[in-house]
Amino acid sequence: MKLNHNYDNVKDSYLFVEIAKRVSAFTAAHPDAPVIRMGIGDVTRPLAPCVVEAGLKAMKEMGKAETFRGYSPDSQGYPFLRERISEYYARFGVKVDPREIHVSDGAKSDCGNIVDMFDAGNTVLVPDPVYPVYVDSNIMSGRKIVYCDATEENGFAPLPDASVKCDIIYLCSPNNPTGSAFTYSGLKAWVDYARSIGAVIVYDAAYEAFVTDPDVPRSIFAIDGARECAVELCSFSKTAGFTGVRCGYTVVPDELCGGKFAKMWARRQSTKFNGTSYIQQRMAEAAYSDEGIKQNTANIEAYRKNAAHISSVLTETGIYHTGGKNSPYIWLKCGTDSWTFFDRLLEGANVVGTPGSGFGKNGEGYFRLTAFNTYENTVEAMRRIKKLLG
Ligand code: PLP
Repeated sequence: MKLNHNYDNVKDSYLFVEIAKRVSAFTAAHPDAPVIRMGIGDVTRPLAPCVVEAGLKAMKEMGKAETFRGYSPDSQGYPFLRERISEYYARFGVKVDPREIHVSDGAKSDCGNIVDMFDAGNTVLVPDPVYPVYVDSNIMSGRKIVYCDATEENGFAPLPDASVKCDIIYLCSPNNPTGSAFTYSGLKAWVDYARSIGAVIVYDAAYEAFVTDPDVPRSIFAIDGARECAVELCSFSKTAGFTGVRCGYTVVPDELCGGKFAKMWARRQSTKFNGTSYIQQRMAEAAYSDEGIKQNTANIEAYRKNAAHISSVLTETGIYHTGGKNSPYIWLKCGTDSWTFFDRLLEGANVVGTPGSGFGKNGEGYFRLTAFNTYENTVEAMRRIKKLLG
C-alpha cells in the first residue's frame, strides 16, 4: 500500500491554530482583557424565523409514517429546492434551469469534490491571496498550480494575462479574503480569456448576497459566454446563516463541454454522495422564499452596517483597504508584516483579526477584518483600532 504522496505537499493549516494559540496565551496573561474577535469568517446572527419554522415543520413530517422521507429520489436535490434556486437567480436577471442545479451540503464540499472532474495533468490558475481550499484540494490530487497576483495595484481584482496558459481557473467574487469584487467588464475579460484557451472557470459566488454595487454581477452567468466555460458554486452559509445547517449548490450549465460536464458531475455525486437531508432542503427553500429573503436581508444589512463602519474608520485613519462594500470582509494594509500587526492589534487594542499572509504570498503585509460581529463590538473594536493607529 502506498499513501497518496501528494498530501506531503499540502502545507499544514496552521493559520487558525496559530491565531488560537496566540489569543489563548494573551488571555491567560491578561484574563480581564476585553478581547473582541474580528477575524472569524463565520456568521453570528441566528437563522431567520421562517427558516426555523420550515425546519420544524419538516422535522415533524419525518416523525409521521405518512410523510417520513428516507433517501431523496436522487442526489441532485429535491425539485422544490432546485426550482426555488432557479427563481432566486431570476430575481437578479440570470436564467438557470432547475435541471442545471445540483444541491449539496455546502460550497466547501463542492469545491473539494469538483476536482474529480479534471485530469490530473491539468494546470490550475488561482489568484493569490486566495481561499485556501482551491489550492489544497488541487495539491491533494497532484495538479500543477500557477498563481495570478492580486495586489494593491490591481485593487485585488486581477485581470487575466493572455500569455499564461492553464486549464482550470478559480475565481471568487466577492472575494474571501480581500473583499474585492469583479465588475461586469472584469469578469467578461476572464470569460473571454477562458474561452480563448479552452479553460473552465470554477466560480465561487458564496458571498453574492452581499453585492450592492450595480456594476458588480451576482453570478458569472450574468456574463455572455460564461455558460460555455464556467461552473458556479454557491452556498446558503453567508446568505442565510447556514454555516451550521449546511446547504449549498453547484450550477453546471448544459453548454459546458457539450453537456458532458453536467453528466459527469451528476454521475460523481450519485456515486459518492447520498444527498442533503430533506430538513436542510426545506429550510433552504424557505430561505429563498419572499419572506426568507426579506428576513435574511435584514441580517445581511446588519453585517453591511458593520462593514461600512469598519471601512469608514479605516478611511478616516488613512489606512488603505479593499472590501467592506460588496463583502463582509475588509482587507487592510498593515504597514508591517501581517503577524507583527496581529500582535500589535491584540496587545494594543485587544482586537483579533486574521493575518493576510495565511492566504498566500501576496497576503503578507495585509490583514483581514470581518463584519460578522455585533454593531456594538464593531464600533468598540474600531474605536480602539483608531486610537492605536490613528
Ligand atoms: N467559499 C468561500 C469563498 C468561503 O469563504 C467559504 C466559507 O467561508 C465557503 C466557500 C464555504 O461555504 P460552505 O459553508 O457552504 O461550505
